[in-house]
Amino acid sequence: AKDSGKNQYKFYNQGLEKKLQLKQELESSLKTTSGRKSFEIYYQPKVNVHSKNMIGVEALVRWRNASGELIPPGEFISLSEESGLIIPLGEYVLTEACRQAVAWKESGHELILAVNVSIIQFEDSKFLSMLKRVLEDSKISPHMLELELTESVLAKDIEYARKLIEEIRLLGVKIALDDFGTGYSSLSYINGFPLDVLKIDQSFVRNMLRSKTDQTIIAAIIQMANGLNLKLVAEGVETQEHADELEKMGCEIMQGYFFSRPVTADTITSTLEESKSI
Ligand code: C2E
Ligand code: CA
Ligand code: CA
Ligand code: CA
Repeated sequence: AKDSGKNQYKFYNQGLEKKLQLKQELESSLKTTSGRKSFEIYYQPKVNVHSKNMIGVEALVRWRNASGELIPPGEFISLSEESGLIIPLGEYVLTEACRQAVAWKESGHELILAVNVSIIQFEDSKFLSMLKRVLEDSKISPHMLELELTESVLAKDIEYARKLIEEIRLLGVKIALDDFGTGYSSLSYINGFPLDVLKIDQSFVRNMLRSKTDQTIIAAIIQMANGLNLKLVAEGVETQEHADELEKMGCEIMQGYFFSRPVTADTITSTLEESKSI
């Protein structure tokens, strides 16, 4: 018992040390231009199931740490939110992804580019000017860019959120509400809120074939999106059965492992080139 207590302590300590070390590594990676290259952006296709076309991609960041391992965002996004590092990281992801979307467009493929924005970025007073600068520098057409926000930004300060979202949309940039249905926002919040897209959270999609409740929630979200004239994206579509059922229910745009996992920009480029030659 004595031994296991000792081990536990050591284990706990290692956890803390690891977190600190990770934080330091993150910090130094974000400081320099070369360090920023250790963040790699993967892209996951969004598919229109009627036309069978890839209509857009979502940018999803990964981190190549010093040992060369590819670390998923689940392991460093919240850490970089706690330390504020998400602000330079988010700017880097946006800049890089816009540059890539412009390159695809120049080779004849216009894709909608979705980029995730953390609430910490959204609450940063310099967010709007940063966004304008990236739009100008990259020369991306603003209507090609969609920012994915979670409901948390509406829950915190709804008037601030409404104003900032209105200003972003005035630039021509679209706003998507990510993980929809999992947050606190009531339907009355959404009604009249300046949005373009609702993304049905993957938890509902995952369970829809065996849970009547989740299927009912999806049906309600679809009906609401239609009523409010919002576009819909279903995420986490893993099987043909999910895709078929969602299509039957009236959802046209989907994203998930069934179509593709998040892949490198080069892989997207190859897919685009193949579809051109057909
Ligand atoms: P998210 O924005 O909800 O992104 C969708 C996540 O679900 C991605 O995980 C994606 O790989 C995964 N996914 C996609 N299709 C499927 C599927 O069919 N089945 C399953 N089981 N999973 C699927 P990922 O890339 O690990 O990202 C996790 C989260 O990290 C994202 O969730 C987002 O909240 C955050 N994140 C990723 N990149 C960024 C970023 O650049 N900025 C910010 N602020 N957050 C980011
Ligand atoms: Ca997202
Ligand atoms: Ca999501
Ligand atoms: Ca999520």
